[in-house]
Amino acid sequence: MHSYYDATANTRVAHPSLQSHERADICIIGAGYTGLSSALHLAQRGYKVIVLEAESVAFGASGRNGGHVGIGQRADQADLEDKLGHDAASVLWDMGLEAVDTVKALISDHDIKCDLKHGDMHLAHKTRLCDGLKEEVEFLADRYNFTDMEYIPQERLSEFVGSDGFYAGIWDKASCHLHPLNYALGLADAAVKAGVTIYEHSRVLSYGGAPLVIKTGEGQVTATEIILACNGYIEKLEPKINGYIMPINNFVLATEPLSDELANAIIPKDTSMADSRFVINYWKLSADNRLVFGGGENYRRGFPKDIKNFVRKYMLQIYPQLGSTKIDYGWGGTLAITMNRLPHFGRVEDNIWHMQGYSGHGVPTATFAGKLVAEAISGKLERFDVMAQLPTHKFPGGTLLRWPGMVSAMLYYSLRDRF
Ligand SMILES: Cc1cc2nc3c(=O)[nH]c(=O)nc-3n(C[C@H](O)[C@H](O)[C@H](O)COP(=O)(O)OP(=O)(O)OC[C@H]3O[C@@H](n4cnc5c(N)ncnc54)[C@H](O)[C@@H]3O)c2cc1C
Repeated sequence: MHSYYDATANTRVAHPSLQSHERADICIIGAGYTGLSSALHLAQRGYKVIVLEAESVAFGASGRNGGHVGIGQRADQADLEDKLGHDAASVLWDMGLEAVDTVKALISDHDIKCDLKHGDMHLAHKTRLCDGLKEEVEFLADRYNFTDMEYIPQERLSEFVGSDGFYAGIWDKASCHLHPLNYALGLADAAVKAGVTIYEHSRVLSYGGAPLVIKTGEGQVTATEIILACNGYIEKLEPKINGYIMPINNFVLATEPLSDELANAIIPKDTSMADSRFVINYWKLSADNRLVFGGGENYRRGFPKDIKNFVRKYMLQIYPQLGSTKIDYGWGGTLAITMNRLPHFGRVEDNIWHMQGYSGHGVPTATFAGKLVAEAISGKLERFDVMAQLPTHKFPGGTLLRWPGMVSAMLYYSLRDRF
């Protein structure tokens, strides 16, 4: 499966597989945003870091996602206040803003070429959702003094989107979007420059002992700390945490390059876009004017055979004018969601850290997770602990039986959206 991102990737540095016995202060398992950002931030603090990746850098969701970098947390800010109180919710809000700023700063500091563009539109697909969008903008202005969002009523929507399918929107000027694979490859290059060693094609099979010994098929690393950064791809590696997440598959297409006129007609301000459906549709223009459109999920192992046509039907519901546009690429990836859509941070043992379950908000949050775990390992635990203390729940039924219950719940909500 060849994605648009693979086809337009910056030069990839190949990393060797682990064939020897190595030592490190910290061994990170997984080379997506979580692992790479952790590695970079820890190396900058002087730690010797080894990253072990089962496949290649950004093989997982970090090389396949929509590239939307949204402010706030994945959960709604007003709901966070209800659940956690204003003070705790306010700390999370600030961290959500810092997460996006961290992405922007990394891109600028390390000169990462990843087509960074600014602005996002969130669109209501039902009239009954419009008041909620308006209230959200007012709530954030009143409670958080946040004025980078504007409510856009239906009569102004044509300034933002060339589609009749929406009733109102929020124009969010603080969020941004980027080429996700090139962002990840840039993080990997920056980490290596800072002294990190990355091994690809080095799946971790087991770890344990004191000091910790992390074993792959052909080598091992002895380390003081481990960071689990496997997210939706963790499978059975750590049974103590995999029941807190549900891996789900999400799919994306990229059209052929559109004429300037057509691109400007469908996304006049070149923002990223997302709608308010339970299974969210999200889209943006690439640097070469393709529509990169994400839509549709499945909740089992394996992707649909024809991903291009699987996603195309969602795209045509929004942009019927693209009926004769050729689809050049279709691909999928696996992300991890949690029961309450809050990320799942913590420690399996004092020296085994985990960050996972970003629930579709991982470009900023996984990047930020790396900054927080580096602070924590350096002795400043407070901010990591804020995240680790968020309420989390295991999926009912454990890792085997979580599937049937979850699948019917997901199907119920996505059907409710359709009818
Ligand atoms: C189609 C799609 C669209 C998305 N769109 C967006 C979006 O627009 N905005 C947003 O914010 N988020 C989005 N997300 C979510 C986001 O991509 C993820 O939250 C984020 O990339 C998670 O990063 P990660 O490093 O934790 O995990 P991943 O990038 O999945 O990396 C985990 C890595 O761990 C490796 N691994 C697993 N097990 C082992 C092992 N035993 N040994 C060694 N290595 C191992 C895997 O090979 C993998 O490379 C999307 C996700 C998908 C799939």
